[in-house]
Amino acid sequence: MFKNLRMGTRQLFDYFTPCNLCDIGMKKHHGICQSCWQQLPWLKQSIQRNQQQILVACHYEHPIDRIIQQFKYEQKLHHQRLLSGLLLQLKLPKVHAIVPMPISTDRLVERGFNQSLLLAQELSKNLHIPIWQPVQRLAQHSQKGLSRVERLENIEQQFIADSTQKIRYRKVLIVDDVITTGSSISALSQVLEQLGCQQIYSLCLAAARNQK
Ligand SMILES: [Zn+2]
Repeated sequence: MFKNLRMGTRQLFDYFTPCNLCDIGMKKHHGICQSCWQQLPWLKQSIQRNQQQILVACHYEHPIDRIIQQFKYEQKLHHQRLLSGLLLQLKLPKVHAIVPMPISTDRLVERGFNQSLLLAQELSKNLHIPIWQPVQRLAQHSQKGLSRVERLENIEQQFIADSTQKIRYRKVLIVDDVITTGSSISALSQVLEQLGCQQIYSLCLAAARNQK
């Protein structure tokens, strides 16, 4: 009885409001019901893209694709709870710092936030590991009409080490939202290696099909 009285505001709110996805079931896992949770397009595996091993929570399929789009482009920030919950299902490596995938200032102004930073902040809170942002991203130009090699070069040139950073970490975890080719993760990893990182792990919410 006393335990129930001590329920937090969020728990109380959850108790009286239905699942964030189906609007019917009772909230059970990170704001969604048991049935919706079970039906997510789970992957929970490490996959290889562009010579990188990346831990991935889900396939980029319904309803995760839509949820991520709403989170990124429609400011539906309440989805952060579910999305961070997905990352917490992965077997996370022990690291010294979390590095969110950087976005360019243009994108930041356009969107108002870096979605990977929001996810990283939630992980940081849960795991008690600091966030480290030692790499800046320059303007993200359109990749249309470029060959595969040109696209890779274009991406590699976007990531620049922030020379004002004094702190260095050796084992880090990159957090990204969706991966397709994995080229941004490899470009970011290269710069992190230049900064002295020896072990670099990556994880992301969802993997889209690799377009050749
Ligand atoms: Zn549901």
